[in-house]
Amino acid sequence: MINQLQEKYQLSLLLLLSSLAIAGVFPFVFIRFFEGNIAAALIDVALIVGMAGAVAYAHLSKNIRAVCLGLAVFLNTGVVAVAIANGFNSFLWVYPVFASTFFLVKPIEAFAANVAGAIALALLSDIFVTVSLVSFFITILMLSLSAFIYASHSEKQFELLETLNTVDDLTGALNRRAMSADIKAALSTAERHGTGQLLVILDLDHFKSVNDKFGHTAGDDALKRLVSITTSKIRAYDRLYRFGGEEFVLLISQIDDQHQAFIDNLRSAIKQELKTPNGDEITVSFGIAHWIPGTTEDSWLQRADKALYVAKAEGRDRAVFCQQTA
Ligand code: GH3
Ligand code: MG
Ligand code: MG
Repeated sequence: MINQLQEKYQLSLLLLLSSLAIAGVFPFVFIRFFEGNIAAALIDVALIVGMAGAVAYAHLSKNIRAVCLGLAVFLNTGVVAVAIANGFNSFLWVYPVFASTFFLVKPIEAFAANVAGAIALALLSDIFVTVSLVSFFITILMLSLSAFIYASHSEKQFELLETLNTVDDLTGALNRRAMSADIKAALSTAERHGTGQLLVILDLDHFKSVNDKFGHTAGDDALKRLVSITTSKIRAYDRLYRFGGEEFVLLISQIDDQHQAFIDNLRSAIKQELKTPNGDEITVSFGIAHWIPGTTEDSWLQRADKALYVAKAEGRDRAVFCQQTA
């Protein structure tokens, strides 16, 4: 499952940060030029062009992580280079740029980049005849450590948000929102590679009577148990979603020849392991649809649902493949 919330947040952060940085650096192109410091002016121009290009590429390619990494390296190296070339006048830029690294990359990466930048500056800059080297290291360390703590905390909050956004809280299966995003991704993969992908709807048989006989809590337990049994039988890259109520969707990628055996194994595992509190088996009906050219999210679900309807009509406790091929 793609970390969508974080990607969106990262892209908007990238845009804001770059606009701010470009607005901040822009006047210095002229200031340095009229001061006669052509090297610093050219580095400022390169920083502006680099940032604008990176944001445009991130927006178009959606390869946000790579762009953020590249930009963090570019900005850190750039600010160290400017501080070395321009001396004390540009030295204070090191602080905001080192702080902004934590918006772009993982906290540990930002921390490592800042330490490397600070060491490079200490070795190559001549400003430390007037600025205390010890104070420089202590202030950079304080800045980086507090940003590190805040960024790590924020990363954990994002993981929690992502879980709340994509996981069904009763069963722990992925939810419908995650399903829709993953089906769209599976469709575009199938369109590019044409590989065998299956969409399966699983529906518990006579589940209302389980609730009626044993109570709603026992029904909830059966739903959780179904999810744990199914999750233990599918492969790492297959996904299980709660579609609603006592219906689940399985998205199975690149299965080709072994699909019948795979479904039979799963169905018999559920039949053996899923029981009511008094030990009776709870069965499941499966409606299965292959990806075929022209499939959309709706048509895929509809074909699987039709197959499920047939499985129910033929007596339940069985798997039916949709025969439609075009
Ligand atoms: P069929 O074999 O035709 O699918 O019969 P069924 O009884 O499973 O289907 P029906 O649609 O009549 O009933 C579905 C039942 O699933 C009714 C509802 O109370 C139960 N159900 C849906 N969501 C939950 C849930 O979150 N917890 C519990 N315990 N029961 C649920
Ligand atoms: Mg049912
Ligand atoms: Mg149902």
